[in-house]
Amino acid sequence: LSKRRARQEESGAGDGRSFSDVPGLRDFELLKTAMEALDLPNPFFRPHQGVAGATTTIGNEEYLNFSSYNYLGLNDDPRVKAAAHAAIERHGVSASASRVVSGERPLHAELEGALAAHYGAEDAITLVSGHATNVTVIGHLMGPRDVILHDAMIHNSCVEGARLSGARRIPFAHNDAAAAERELAAARRGAGRALVLIEGHYSMDGDVPDLARFIEIARRHDAWLMVDEAHSMGVLGATGHGIAELQGVDPAGVDIWMGTLSKTLCSCGGYVAARRQLINWLRHTAPGFVYSVGLAPVLAASALQSLNILHEEPWRVARLNANATRFRDGLRARGLDAGASAGHAIVPLMTGSSVRAGRLSAELFERGVNVQPITFPAVPERASRLRFFLTAAHTEAQIDRTLDIVAETAAGVAPAEVAG
Ligand code: PMP
Repeated sequence: LSKRRARQEESGAGDGRSFSDVPGLRDFELLKTAMEALDLPNPFFRPHQGVAGATTTIGNEEYLNFSSYNYLGLNDDPRVKAAAHAAIERHGVSASASRVVSGERPLHAELEGALAAHYGAEDAITLVSGHATNVTVIGHLMGPRDVILHDAMIHNSCVEGARLSGARRIPFAHNDAAAAERELAAARRGAGRALVLIEGHYSMDGDVPDLARFIEIARRHDAWLMVDEAHSMGVLGATGHGIAELQGVDPAGVDIWMGTLSKTLCSCGGYVAARRQLINWLRHTAPGFVYSVGLAPVLAASALQSLNILHEEPWRVARLNANATRFRDGLRARGLDAGASAGHAIVPLMTGSSVRAGRLSAELFERGVNVQPITFPAVPERASRLRFFLTAAHTEAQIDRTLDIVAETAAGVAPAEVAG
């Protein structure tokens, strides 16, 4: 018996092997104990009883809700629900197999055609989650001789994909195109292929990159540019066509458009839109596609119907942006720090420390506002914040009421008070 096992047996701790030597597990347990010692309620995993929209019900209480990606308010739209019901009636609830074998349904090609058309791209492919899309596509496309440059604030799924690929991975300072170019020029020498990864709208700060600059840099150094539009498709631009529309840039300059079905499109899954050559290869070889179940037909139907509504009702995008700008400007007018938010959908309230973020979130919850704290290690400790997601469904009255509650609460939880 190993010493560890002998110790476990001595302490009588269960039948199996303990997991305490898993990297990071002890740190996680310490953090949990610290939170409990501070007497802060756990803001995570709270079950919502109905549809989480501008308001939500938790534990039979109604809250003003700023924690859901239901950006366009389509999650309980009768047309989306009807399309979902029809798909269930026709195909049941699962694709029941990889699409390569017997999981293909007509809805898959319909949705992928609509997504490709949305970007003016030749083709698109959908996978069962946005996270899995980045992991499998980046992990499969790039290899150990290659180099991947990515914004320092890029989403975890891109980082995981880059790790899986075995490529050299180089983060550059957030939104700093000049730094990206310096790194790319240096890393390009001797490397095989190069990929630059950015987001269309950053999920922590709510700010946007200079797309034209990144296209130019990628071209100059013979690199592919991949843009994750998880928070920008259906959010940016007059008709929700994302960062390219917002900045008046030709979308053809981007080699790989990626996005999720889980936010504006109110479903679950991820997609990539690009040249047919790439999509066709992914369809036949990408592990997370070939060896995974096809997108459930009900989810393809919900995403497709949501995409149609997005195109037919651009007022939703305008309303979302007006709401987010109203909220961001309202925070600033009350002397609060809304960070770098561009006022599109994501508005942080910078809190200065994780403890203050935790306390503010707990107090706001007491006062009927549901908003999550973002703390270390998701962001540096000093960059801790509350993160508000605005939607097209919020009313101006709800926004103004929330601003007043937030200002009052923030005044009551001063940084100095909690720092000691
Ligand atoms: N990319 C970004 C930028 C994201 O924010 C997220 C999730 N929030 C994902 C990818 C993963 O998408 P999903 O949650 O649909 O798996």
